[in-house]
Amino acid sequence: MACARCDDTGWRPVEDNGIRRVVRCDCWRERVGQMRLADSNIPRRYQHCTLDSLRAYNDSLKDAIAAAKRFVAAYPVVDRGLLLLGHPGVGKTHIAVAVLRAVIEKTSAHGMFYDTRELLKTIRSTYDPVVRTSETSVLRPVMEAPFLVLDDLGAERPTDWVEEMMNLIVNTRYNERRVTLFTSNYSDIPDMEDPNSLLARIGFRMRSRLQEMCSTIEIDAADFRDEHTPRNASDQDLFALWQLKKRPKDLPLRANRSAKAQMRDSRADLKWPGGRAGS
Ligand SMILES: [Zn+2]
Repeated sequence: MACARCDDTGWRPVEDNGIRRVVRCDCWRERVGQMRLADSNIPRRYQHCTLDSLRAYNDSLKDAIAAAKRFVAAYPVVDRGLLLLGHPGVGKTHIAVAVLRAVIEKTSAHGMFYDTRELLKTIRSTYDPVVRTSETSVLRPVMEAPFLVLDDLGAERPTDWVEEMMNLIVNTRYNERRVTLFTSNYSDIPDMEDPNSLLARIGFRMRSRLQEMCSTIEIDAADFRDEHTPRNASDQDLFALWQLKKRPKDLPLRANRSAKAQMRDSRADLKWPGGRAGS
């Protein structure tokens, strides 16, 4: 199909103050964008995600989507990426993919999506322990993509190898000022002892890097993945369900832990009437 603007050459003439020159035609940009989108590694189930198709039934989701839209509007003039935090199923991957798609469609940038655990599995499969590196074909797109989504950071058991590999990827991108969007199910609480803290999963070095590289968005919402979302539910219904689900599971972890500790202490204090201890 012929483009009326450029006759399918991909270039169209423009006139600037009487000087004639050629610029890339929009049809070329669209074609490149479509190609980049097809190569971006977005999982099939997320391929149709947009920022307007996520149900924003509470303020936390509305704020997250607004921040994501501001990011897309500013891209590529951004000096920080995004770190999306929240429980599984709140819509982090949806937002991450929607941002990636919007960035590619807007700028035809080379953007890539990786699930962190899948990525590490691939890297490991080509890892050569002698030269301590993996095949360039695996690592290069991760290091060099101008825009990268790393989904589910911290999901992989934090071994020395995982930490080394993730630091290599993140530091390379940091040094080259490449923009990255991370998502994680773990909370950014500064407690190395807490197994549910992002810090315990990724270590001090990487956490402080992330703080330099990204603006953090915490999403407080319920697990409403497609299969869990009630059909025809209104935003009010979802809001009410989210409030119900919040209790009591979402008590701060620390409170849960101290409650457990208190229970242990009180059990230790129990006097067994007439009983013999450890006969
Ligand atoms: Zn054209």
